[in-house]
Amino acid sequence: MEKFKSYTLGQLDKIPQLSGLSEEQIEEIKIVSSIYPFKTNNYVLEKLIDWNNIPDDPIFRLNFPHKEMLLTEDFEQLKQIRATGTDEEIKEVIYNIRMRLNPHPAGQVDLNSAYINDDKLEGIQHKYRDILLFFPSQSQTCHAYCTFCFRWPQFINDLDFKIQSKEIGPLLEYLHENPQISEVLFTGGDPMIMNSRVLDSYIEPLLKVDSIKTIRIGTKALSYWPYKFTTDEDAEGMLNVLAKVTKAGKHLGFMAHFNHPVELEPPVVKEAIDNLIKIGATIRTQSPLLRFINNSPETWTKMWEKQVQLNCIPYYMFLPRDTGAQHYFAETLERAHEIYTEAIRNCTGLASTAKGPVMSMTHGKVEILGVKDDLYTLRYVKHRDDSKTFKVFTAQSISPKPMWIGDLQEIKSEIMNY
Ligand SMILES: *Cc1c(COP(=O)(O)O)cnc(C)c1O
Ligand code: SF4
Repeated sequence: MEKFKSYTLGQLDKIPQLSGLSEEQIEEIKIVSSIYPFKTNNYVLEKLIDWNNIPDDPIFRLNFPHKEMLLTEDFEQLKQIRATGTDEEIKEVIYNIRMRLNPHPAGQVDLNSAYINDDKLEGIQHKYRDILLFFPSQSQTCHAYCTFCFRWPQFINDLDFKIQSKEIGPLLEYLHENPQISEVLFTGGDPMIMNSRVLDSYIEPLLKVDSIKTIRIGTKALSYWPYKFTTDEDAEGMLNVLAKVTKAGKHLGFMAHFNHPVELEPPVVKEAIDNLIKIGATIRTQSPLLRFINNSPETWTKMWEKQVQLNCIPYYMFLPRDTGAQHYFAETLERAHEIYTEAIRNCTGLASTAKGPVMSMTHGKVEILGVKDDLYTLRYVKHRDDSKTFKVFTAQSISPKPMWIGDLQEIKSEIMNY
């Protein structure tokens, strides 16, 4: 049995594999980790990162913060104040840098809130008609943290940004009042951090709600800790709780987060996937397109083909949201569209099911359909006003290097008649 061992910033010096790095490299990790959350674990360190390829190894980039994730002036200011400032001064600099990194993009907090009468429900986001996001308080962490994570503020205690729920009662009441909701998507952090007992306390009551047809679980456990579904002490218990969903005649959808084909290679990943499929789960995959990690068409073709071989369904290629280190990880919209198209072109039909490149923004999820010079054709693959879902529209770039929907200006909305 593999025993889970995680390392956060305070334990950086205890990570054996880092002994090959220079002092300067370690110091950089520490500086950037004072802004963004950092966590790794023994599986990522031993099975995923290629330590002969540091710092360019994609999984190292995925898990270890690096200098360029901060703007040069912010990095330098932080470095300076850490060397010479008081605790108070350091804290203030950190706070100000974080605030400039747009910690809450796309109006998530206000626009997506759910209410019963006038009471706002904690830990629930209701953006689209038929599906609700649920953030159990016990899943507000992950087995390791991704450097590009758009939910990074949720993992920082000093920032009062947590979206979480400790109880299922209000959720059930809300579902009762909104029978049009047919899906609940567990998210976090990573819901697969929870143990089987806690998960059961959420799943069991949900299965009694007739209008709920699908339970989805958004998780990176298959990449960061696949033992969750194989040899962990609680693995069997976990599979038994999850199996209740399919036994109740509902759909169990795993939204598995994989960023690079390397994450699919260890044999334990296949075992974990097989165990989930045995209990009737369907595994769909998603990832953002990220510079330094997966920004070549070949990487995506390989990843999607391998996923099909493992019985997973490619689902979304996202673009990094306008928060945190987007400036570092994002490709331009044009290059993103090119990478997506080339990747799909080289795939077999069954591996070409992913929608993309997709931006999740205030009104919905927008897919880039085509680019010619500064003109873009786009489509809402999902809109908060469902009469607009799948509407096609055109836009023009208003930036020399458009990387997000805000860099485009709509020209014609709804170029379809229906
Ligand atoms: C992406 C997303 C969903 C799920 O969307 P699908 O296209 O059905 O996978 C649900 N709620 C929110 C807020 C989302 O961003
Ligand atoms: S697993 Fe998901 S929620 Fe957790 S750090 Fe990575 S992107 Fe963020």
